[in-house]
Amino acid sequence: MKFVTYIVDGQENYGVIKEDKGMVVPMKVLLEKMNLEVPNNLLKFIEIYSDSLIPRLKESLEAVDEGIALDNIKITAPIPYPRRNVFCLGKNYAEHAMEVQSLPTGSDAIPKHPIYFTKIADPAIGHRDKVVIPKDYTVDIDYEVELALVIGKDGKDISPEEAEEYIFGYTIGNDISARDIQKKHIQWFKGKSLDTFTPLGPWIVHKSEIGFPVELEIVCKVNREIRQRSNTNKLLFDIPYIISDLSKGLTLRAGDIIMTGTPEGVGMGYNPPKFLNAGDVVECYIEKIGTLINVIE
Ligand code: MG
Repeated sequence: MKFVTYIVDGQENYGVIKEDKGMVVPMKVLLEKMNLEVPNNLLKFIEIYSDSLIPRLKESLEAVDEGIALDNIKITAPIPYPRRNVFCLGKNYAEHAMEVQSLPTGSDAIPKHPIYFTKIADPAIGHRDKVVIPKDYTVDIDYEVELALVIGKDGKDISPEEAEEYIFGYTIGNDISARDIQKKHIQWFKGKSLDTFTPLGPWIVHKSEIGFPVELEIVCKVNREIRQRSNTNKLLFDIPYIISDLSKGLTLRAGDIIMTGTPEGVGMGYNPPKFLNAGDVVECYIEKIGTLINVIE
C-alpha cells in the first residue's frame, strides 16, 4: 500500500493510492467504513495504528470506489513536519565513502561505525516541489538519492532480529547538500538543513510490499543523465544494524525518518564536479517505491 499526503482544494489530507483506478482514496473514507478513529494526518495514523490494521485496510480499499484522481491532487511530503529532525547516515556505501574523502569526518575513509547526523525538515518538501538555492550564500549544491525508513512504533534497544517489526514503510529521500557550507563548518548539519533541502516521497510504501532484507535498485538522474546507480543491498551498515545501533540508549519514535545514506555518483565525486544549477531536474528512483522528482531553482 502506498500512503500519500496531498492537498486538494487548499486542504491537506492523506490516503492510500488505488493504482488500478489512478486515484487516491482518503483515509477518512476507509477508516469510517471500519468504524475507526480518523487521525488528523499520516504521522498520527502511524503513531496510533499497528501492523495488524494493514490487512483490514487493504480489504477496505478493495471494496471502495470513491476517490480523487491523482491528477487532481498536489502531493506533499508524506510527513511534511516530522516530529524530530530526520536521522541520516553519512558514507554508508563504500564507493561513495571513497569519492567524498574530502568531507570532514574521522580518519577512516570507510567508516568503522555508522556516521550519524540529522537534518531539519521544516517542512520536508514533496514530489515536484522546488529546491531553492540561496545563491548569495552557497554554490556547490549536490544531490543524494537515499532509501528512507519510516519507523512504525516506539522502541529502544531494539535487536537486529526485531528491527523489521519497528519499520512502518519506506520512502525516497534526496539529501540535498551544500558542499561548500559542509566543508566550512567541519560538520554536516547546516549545509544539509537549508530550507527546501529535504525532499521526501512521493509516498510511503508499506513494508509488506518491499520484502526483507531490503534489496532495491536505487538511481538518481539529473536532466535524464544517470549519476547514481546502485542497490540498497550494498549498505555498509544494513537496516537491522542501523535500527539496532541507533536505538541503543535512544528511543526511536513512531514516525521518525531515517535516511540510510547515498551511493556513489554524487556531484562532488566527479572531476570536475557536477553540482546542481537552477533549472536542473533531479529524479530519484527506488525500485518498488517510485520516483521523486524535484526542480532546482
Ligand atoms: Mg546523505
